[in-house]
Amino acid sequence: MSRASLTTVELTELIIGLHRLARNLWWTWNQEAQEIFQELSPRGWQNLHHNAVAILHEVSDYELRVRLQDREFAQRVREVLSTFEIYLNDSITWGHQNAPGLLKNPVAYFSAEFGFHESLPIAAGGLGILAGDHAKSASDVGLGFAGISLFYREGYFQQTFNQDNWQTEYYTHLNPKNLAVEPVLDAKGEQVVCMVEIAMTEVYFHAWRVNVGRCPVYLLDANRPENEQRYRDLTLRVYGGDSTTRIMQEILLGVGGVRLLRALGIAPSVFHMNEGHAAFLTLELAREKMADGKNFQAAIAETKSQCIFTTHTPVEAGHDRFSRDLMSYVLMKFQTELKLTLPELMALGQVSPGTDHEPFCMTVLALKASRAANGVSELHGQVSRHMWQGMYPGKRTDEVPIGHITNGIHLVGWMKGPVRRFWRSKLSQISNEKLNVLECDREMNSPEFWARISDPNFISDEELWAMRYKLRRELIEFSRRRLLLQGERLTRGDFIAFDQLLNTDALTIGFARRFATYKRAPLIFQQFENIAKVVMDKHRPVQFIFAGKAHPKDDDGKRFIQHIIHLSKFSELKGHLVFIENYDVHVARQLVSGCDVWLNNPRRPLEASGTSGMKASCHGCLNFSILDGWWREGYDGTNGFAIGDDSHPDNIEEQDRLDSENLYRTLTQEVIPCFYARDAHGIPRQWIQRIRRAMSTLVPQFNTWRMVQEYAKKYYTS
Ligand SMILES: *Cc1c(COP(=O)(O)O)cnc(C)c1O
Repeated sequence: MSRASLTTVELTELIIGLHRLARNLWWTWNQEAQEIFQELSPRGWQNLHHNAVAILHEVSDYELRVRLQDREFAQRVREVLSTFEIYLNDSITWGHQNAPGLLKNPVAYFSAEFGFHESLPIAAGGLGILAGDHAKSASDVGLGFAGISLFYREGYFQQTFNQDNWQTEYYTHLNPKNLAVEPVLDAKGEQVVCMVEIAMTEVYFHAWRVNVGRCPVYLLDANRPENEQRYRDLTLRVYGGDSTTRIMQEILLGVGGVRLLRALGIAPSVFHMNEGHAAFLTLELAREKMADGKNFQAAIAETKSQCIFTTHTPVEAGHDRFSRDLMSYVLMKFQTELKLTLPELMALGQVSPGTDHEPFCMTVLALKASRAANGVSELHGQVSRHMWQGMYPGKRTDEVPIGHITNGIHLVGWMKGPVRRFWRSKLSQISNEKLNVLECDREMNSPEFWARISDPNFISDEELWAMRYKLRRELIEFSRRRLLLQGERLTRGDFIAFDQLLNTDALTIGFARRFATYKRAPLIFQQFENIAKVVMDKHRPVQFIFAGKAHPKDDDGKRFIQHIIHLSKFSELKGHLVFIENYDVHVARQLVSGCDVWLNNPRRPLEASGTSGMKASCHGCLNFSILDGWWREGYDGTNGFAIGDDSHPDNIEEQDRLDSENLYRTLTQEVIPCFYARDAHGIPRQWIQRIRRAMSTLVPQFNTWRMVQEYAKKYYTS
């Protein structure tokens, strides 16, 4: 064998390493790792949702061995694997220093959905994305953390449209073999199987482990031969089916999650319920204590000392409520173990216990059985205290024990590849020693780094503007590609010049999120004539890119989408307004990076936090939003644009009218003039000044690096 070629042992090590890497989602936030998988099969990477595990199936073992004989490639693989090992084994993290107790007894974080990456589509929206970002940052800062959720084998729906532009849903089957998940096995290598009682039935489940850097997230799966089909289908779809399915899913999540942790020998020091869906975990904790001889009161009191709860929405429909009949039916067996009568059980989920007609509310149970609770922004904290005041008779609103921790995003995970590289090169300019990739990622969350963006000697207007142009072009080319694919299905032969759709110089406004009606996606088109004039302005063109899914049962949301698609096809806005189908993490990343302006116009105060706007700032995309959720805290008058002020009318019609007026006024009087005010060199100096302000004030604040540390200090370790 010549010296130039790898030995069999070396080759085997690299191949084992690549397989291990593919089954840890760390690669989804490491640029070099992604590039390796992409390079192995560029077309596969594009077609298979950027899925490293699928790429290793696509490329034969023989090909992999041959390709690794490319020395430069093998060297890059070696470097990535070495960085990965260093990451996994780092023993001087923030968590080691500030929350060492959690390393042995972790936080168990329960969430009905986790949004990690487009290759694992098991989230419905922002709640899941937040949970995924929480897990990634828990890993980055070195917190002891174990997540619990369900393995939905058909995930969340895929979106398409019929001839009437009406959203239709279809589901694809997720094959665990092709995903970054591993079966959860016992010491003998057998699948770990646990059981929960639902109604009079024993429902069995196994689990899949998602490796999120250093942290495991366990996905429970009821698709087992012992179970009747209807129980196997409990883990078919995210929030699938009626309230019976819903409550059964929640028993599996809450009760089953605790049982799995016990089976794995994990002894959490705190149970964190991300939204009320998981609140049945408190009943299982109480049941355990009663099995040890405690009475129910003592058991619940002790449970309460172990649990914390985060509420996520002021929208009524977001709080699960179950009827007495349903509760009695599905908790029949469990209830006897708790030695509770039905009214006593119901009381745990009632604001006014003893009322016959009040249903059982998961949020109420979560609040009653937690030592601490919080909303997800300052305003949402206030709104939640008001909303649940009835549970605390005699307390003033400000005494209701619900605090707040404002949400964030996992910054390096959301940064588009070229942007991450750009910031890294900037970081290396200012540091004395050469920083490795991991140190760069850490520094990227520091306020000191972002504070430097205000210095034009550190980064020039021209550089920032060049970055903006590059990102806008990437988005527009991405959109053209997607629209071509959508169009082939819909236009049936009509010729559309897809390469001329959208204008690469125009002020590009993006709106993408769930099409829940309170988010009012079509609000901007209420002043249609005015907006049409703005869009048609040849000298100062403006264009819109929309995306988002409506819940399968939300016909009003579907009408919103249909309306926008109709405008995009049949009105003067054609060519200046597009709707991208099948919004997911990948589409989100393209949009938040490529747009110049990120529009958000929820009906205040219903947007508890919102996170998509946070993903925009590090890319130089400016927020243009109602002062609701996080933006009410983020906006300082210089770092983006506000629609309206810090108040809202009580009357909904009045609010919609006022907001649409304010939106139009700010757009035409502030946003457009600022974007098109170019100096002699063609540079929009004031616009770039706002970008600098956004970067230095928003990026270091609204990220999950800060957020998980806040949870750790405020709630996990006290
Ligand atoms: C960030 C994100 C969301 C949340 O968006 P909001 O504007 O906060 O509602 C929803 N879905 C996806 C795919 C996201 O990436």
